[in-house]
This record gives sequence, C-alpha cells and structure tokens, in this order.
Amino acid sequence: MTRPNVRFATRCIHAGQSPEPTTGAITTPVFQTSTYVQDGLGRHRGYEYARLQNPTREATEANIASLEDGAHGIAFSSGLAAIECLAKVAASGAHVVSEENTYGGTTRMLTQVLSRLGMEVSLVDCRDLDAVRDAVRPNTGLVLAETPSNPLMRITDVAAVAEVAHRAGAVLCVDNTFASPFNQNPLALGADVVVHSTTKYLNGHSDVLGGVLVLDDDALAEELRFVRKSTGPVPGPMDSWLTLRGTKTLHVRMERHNENGLAIARFLETLPAVQAVHYPGLPSHPQHELAKRQMRGFSGMVSADFAPETAKRLVEGTRLFRLAESLGGVESMISVPVVMTHASVPEERRLRMGIGNGLVRFSVGIEDEGDLTRDLEQALDL
Ligand SMILES: *Cc1c(COP(=O)(O)O)cnc(C)c1O
Repeated sequence: MTRPNVRFATRCIHAGQSPEPTTGAITTPVFQTSTYVQDGLGRHRGYEYARLQNPTREATEANIASLEDGAHGIAFSSGLAAIECLAKVAASGAHVVSEENTYGGTTRMLTQVLSRLGMEVSLVDCRDLDAVRDAVRPNTGLVLAETPSNPLMRITDVAAVAEVAHRAGAVLCVDNTFASPFNQNPLALGADVVVHSTTKYLNGHSDVLGGVLVLDDDALAEELRFVRKSTGPVPGPMDSWLTLRGTKTLHVRMERHNENGLAIARFLETLPAVQAVHYPGLPSHPQHELAKRQMRGFSGMVSADFAPETAKRLVEGTRLFRLAESLGGVESMISVPVVMTHASVPEERRLRMGIGNGLVRFSVGIEDEGDLTRDLEQALDL
C-alpha cells in the first residue's frame, strides 16, 4: 500500500504493492483469471468477475495514481479507451473543447466517432487563452489539453486553462503522456484528471498497449468505474503486470530520456539542414519559461523541421533510430507525423498548425548518447 512521505523513486517501486498473502511472493502475481469462486451465495472476497476487479490491475492503478499524486487510478485497454470513457462521462450529449494539436487518434475519435453520439467538439490552440475562453459554452463538459503536444511540443499553461475550464463548470483533463509523471504532475497544477497512454513512457518497453486516468474527485471516479464496468475496455492481467514492471524503473529511465532528449535537441540545433527544433527544454522554444515552471525535465520527445527530401533520407537512413510509430520506449524511434501518426488530420488543418511535410519526430531512447548522434550524422551524410 502507499506509504506516506516517500519520494517518487520509492513510490515507483513500492506504491500499490505488498507481498502476496498466500506465499509471500514479493512480486504482485499475474492474476490470469476471468472469475472468482464465491464463498457462499452473495458472499465473495471483493472479487467477482475480471471486467469488474483484478488484483494485478488494481496494483498497477494504485501505483500510477501514487506517481501522479492522485486518489484514484483507473486503467484501460488503451490510452484512447481512457479518453473515450472520460469524454462520455464528462460530456455526453454536450460539448468538448480540445487542443487541436493532440495525438492524431484523439482528434479523430472526438470528431469522427463521438460526434456520432451527438457530442460537439471545438478544436483550439490551448496556448491562446482567449481562444479557449471563446470556445467554452454553457454546455461544455470537458476541456482536453495535451502538454507538451504531439508533435509540435506546444505547452499549455495548465493553471490558466484550469481557471477558464472551472469558470465554465467543465472538467479539465491533461494528457501527460509526453512528459510522464517524473517530469510533470497536472493535478498539482490545477487539472482535474490526468490521462496517460501507458503504452508510452509508463510501460516504457514497447510491448504493451494501455491507458490510465488519475483523479481526486470521488464521484467522478465512481462514475468512470461504472461506465468502464458497463462497457468493458479493461486491460488484461498480463498487460497490467508488464506495466507495473515498467513503472518500477520509470525514474531511472526518465532521467536518461531527459538527458538524451536535450542532447539530441542541442545537436539538431547545430545542423544547417534543420530549419527549426521543437523541444521545450531549449531556450529557443518560445514557451521555455512556462515549460520550466510546469516541468522538472523535458523528456525524450523532440521534433524538427527539414526539407521533405532530407526528412525522407534521414528516417530511411538511421540504423539505431527505428522508423516506427509510438514513442516512450527504451529504444530510439523516428517518424514523419504527416505520413504516420497524423495522417488522419486533414491537410489544411495540419499545415495551419505547422505540421509540415518535412517535420520529423524523434523519440529519444536511453542508448548511448554518442551512438545516437553518430547515427543521425551517418544518416545525413555529415
Ligand atoms: C499514443 C497516445 C495516445 C493514445 O494512446 P493508445 O494507448 O495508443 O490508445 C494518446 N495521447 C498521446 C499523447 C499519445 O502519445
């Protein structure tokens, strides 16, 4: 169970876990079961059926809730399933204001799927507080921010947007996937709900798909658990277990992701072939001061603008940076958002936001920093 007054690194390893009572196993087992035998009619031990309860999942939820300093952790089969559940609970038949530069799948779900259930969506640039103020309406149930945003690393002022959302009576959810709780805690900045795609940094090993919501509000948590139980987007026991194994090293991995991310961002800034580097840890980032106020480190996510033909040569020429969607794993990955993660965003909106055809996104892993820069050099023939 959560021990009071222990720091982040200790919580990564211990929060939510105690030795298994039957054998004393130090590691929380994979409770790979769909149901539980009951002691008598109407008498059970708190576990009835796997969609409702699973001890491995509950340990993972308690662990991540502790890392975000929240009262409730609610795990899902994917990050998108987590956001969908929250949108349905907070804004059914109502209105959502969402950052326009989110993970591509988030915008697609809001505008092409939930819109079919009568949900209205306004996409805004959350850096512009007036735009957020203008977008909220009396029936706005949810404001969804993502900071740093994918792939442009825009920063949302969480405290300021929280004030606008709360004045409108809406819930503010912050997608904290890019920063991870090692670097940023949105609840402490004024958000009501944090969402993670645990597929990324929290699991960290590119072998699980998952999502989690963390929040303090008891009534909202109960409602979310009710909808999850009634619709079924739960993670399996093995995936929960792998995620729990992943979070045990989150603090160690993130330290290196932060170091390598900054090193690669600085290296990219020196290259004549690069038109702009987007990394909140660089003084050249237009919101560097805000990022420093909200974040303790800047993670391993970097993007940079190249000429489109150079971008193609780069992503096809790297040997360590693997050409792949996804991010946040120990291995470095490289992608071109326009062709890959953001292909579903209409071209006109993409270009207006600044996602150009030569934008390259780097998920900098925890390999040797010199090997990573040499890999980029050889791919660019430097
Ligand atoms: C990947 C991602 C998601 C979606 O999560 P899945 O686990 O792929 O469903 C949402 N937000 C961000 C920022 C992401 O990177």
